[in-house]
Amino acid sequence: MIIQSVNPFNGEVIATHEAHTHELVAHKIQQTHTAWLTWRNSNAEDRSGLLHKLAAILQERKQELAKLMALEMGKPVKQGASEIEKCAAVCTYYAENAARFLTEQLVETDATKSYITFEPIGVVLAVMPWNFPFWQVFRFIAPALAAGNCGVLKHASNVPGCALAIEEMVVQAGFPPHVFQTLLAGSNMVDAMIENPLIKAVTLTGSTQAGIKVAQKAGSVLKKTVLELGGSDAYLILEDADLEHAATTCTDSRLINSGQSCIAAKRFIVVAEVAEKFTQLMLDKMKTKRMGDPLSADTEVGPQARQDLRDELHKQVQASIAAGAKCILGGTIPNGERNALYPPTLLINVTKGMPAFDEELFGPVAAIITVKDEEEAISAANDSIFGLGAAVFTKDMQRGERIAATRLEAGSCFVNSLVKSDPRLPFGGIKQSGYGRELGMFGIHEFVNIKTVFVK
Ligand code: NAP
Repeated sequence: MIIQSVNPFNGEVIATHEAHTHELVAHKIQQTHTAWLTWRNSNAEDRSGLLHKLAAILQERKQELAKLMALEMGKPVKQGASEIEKCAAVCTYYAENAARFLTEQLVETDATKSYITFEPIGVVLAVMPWNFPFWQVFRFIAPALAAGNCGVLKHASNVPGCALAIEEMVVQAGFPPHVFQTLLAGSNMVDAMIENPLIKAVTLTGSTQAGIKVAQKAGSVLKKTVLELGGSDAYLILEDADLEHAATTCTDSRLINSGQSCIAAKRFIVVAEVAEKFTQLMLDKMKTKRMGDPLSADTEVGPQARQDLRDELHKQVQASIAAGAKCILGGTIPNGERNALYPPTLLINVTKGMPAFDEELFGPVAAIITVKDEEEAISAANDSIFGLGAAVFTKDMQRGERIAATRLEAGSCFVNSLVKSDPRLPFGGIKQSGYGRELGMFGIHEFVNIKTVFVK
């Protein structure tokens, strides 16, 4: 089997790789397991030093890696450079905090001494998506290696260059051989990887369909999973919101990574009193965004990652229009047969029953849903199979905090801000957006044996 990188801006094949065979995959997993038998006993200080080195390498190679992303999956270079900086930040964060998160915790009981330790569990399989081809992987690698685990990566098939660059940087940083390896393989080989007895757990970031398949397989052999899946984040615009700020934030969130982010704002639920004004502001802002070659420093919206994904998005837009939505910006496939461009698109009059309300639209398409009041806004936001992120815009901070903390059904709820991940805060979803958490202290505790020690 061949794994190819195709430039989504012009359809050119950039590189062709021979996929690893089942035998080679099994061999690499064995190597990583062998490496783990030593790595598990390494001390926290050494691990921290290596993570600091990895952070420095990421910073040094930032521009080159941003260009690689632009070529393989179309991310505008400026956004690519920020992604690499965030990868460096997560390495530094766990370099500085992992030892504290893994410190034994004494608990008073009837024992002479009882306490909790956090022991590494072995080789974790990471199945990752193309949309943040470095960030998604580094937010797994940093806590995994810091906890004394090892990792193998099955990256999305359209970003083999990024996958290989990650392995190369881990080696360059001086980690012992095979502590982390990339497996070049299609999704048809994931079941065999999960079945391999040396794989102790699986983390997947990707679509809900892929998450269900991987969870089924992992469940059948009783292996733990963490699933970071799709989302259809609702942003509530209440009648007392700062509309200028809300429209700027909503536009930025919708268009990040050319609309291909799990936590991009996707449904804009606006109270009727301010709907016309908010829509006009958002239209004005979305219109100004420059679409084009991701290698140009001034490009704000690049191509979609693959033509088939762009075509699927267009179908969802057309089906929403056929069901009664009105398209007031974009909504057409630009000329140029071999690119995967899709313009910033604004749909209004969106209601339940349309793909723009019910499904995840993974591209630069904003859906405006008008509601009567706060209660209706909350119930429309929660009326989704997803529960990844949500945001509320209001000048009344107490009102915003109450809605975010107690009413919205999502893993991350923000007030007057776009939803974003931060190494210090746990990140993950509920409902069909998945389970488990990455980042922060909760992230490093997902793949450890939380062991009770009781001494009579
Ligand atoms: P995807 O098609 O689900 O692919 C993700 C990964 O899963 C890829 O490595 C893919 O391999 C693999 N895969 C696909 N089907 C599989 C199966 N049946 N069994 C085993 N592995 C399988 O998702 P994507 O298109 O790359 O990414 C977009 C999706 O990811 C969106 O839904 C987005 O919301 C979600 N996402 C979620 C988060 C989060 O943190 N919650 C973050 C980013 C993205 P191949 O490439 O070889 O098919």
